[in-house]
Amino acid sequence: MTWVIPAPPQPSAAVEGTSARFPVRRIFCVGRNYAEHAREFGNDPDRELPFFFLKPADAVVDSGATLPYPPLTSDLHHEAELVVALHRGGFQLSEDETASLIWGHAAGNDLTRRDLQAEAKAARRPWDMAKGFDASAVIGPIRPGPIGDGAIRCLVNGEVRQQARLSDMIWPVPGILAHLSRLVRLEPGDLVMTGTPAGVGAFGPGDTCRIEIEGLTPATVTIA
Ligand code: MN
Repeated sequence: MTWVIPAPPQPSAAVEGTSARFPVRRIFCVGRNYAEHAREFGNDPDRELPFFFLKPADAVVDSGATLPYPPLTSDLHHEAELVVALHRGGFQLSEDETASLIWGHAAGNDLTRRDLQAEAKAARRPWDMAKGFDASAVIGPIRPGPIGDGAIRCLVNGEVRQQARLSDMIWPVPGILAHLSRLVRLEPGDLVMTGTPAGVGAFGPGDTCRIEIEGLTPATVTIA
């Protein structure tokens, strides 16, 4: 293959215990997957199927990055999330079939321009520019293998902002992957950010935000 312009680099995420990288194909994100977080935005967690949005693959950023405050927002929010990394694909899967797709898990931060999201919601416009901006997906090192229940927390400068358990998800991972696989064919390299608990909030210049999930390496990001 010859290209008419240089081929863009392959986006990738770090892997625990090796310098080898996980190639990122797409980043799917789940909206409103913890009941308390759904309620904090005035939604009823009992009445909705999971819904999805995407970030570009090259929005991925390694833990430890220092980022500029993103443009055209004055309300940058953190969202602590479990990230699922897929090494197999599938279409129209049952929940039982989804476990074999999973290569590993990571702690992640779904960075959000909340003011742009509020404007988009009010105008019934897409969320892309609120959610899919440059460097908006902070992904900690992926740990191969399964994960059990555990605590998920977000700390800003050491202060706890979000705290829940993975078992608090409205739609656990098998249900998320099965439902998503009815909408699109899942593929190796896909990441799925599985939604955030209550307590999302703003952080900004000089702040360090750390996402902790029991059993995984934390994902940290500092705003310059
Ligand atoms: Mn999110």
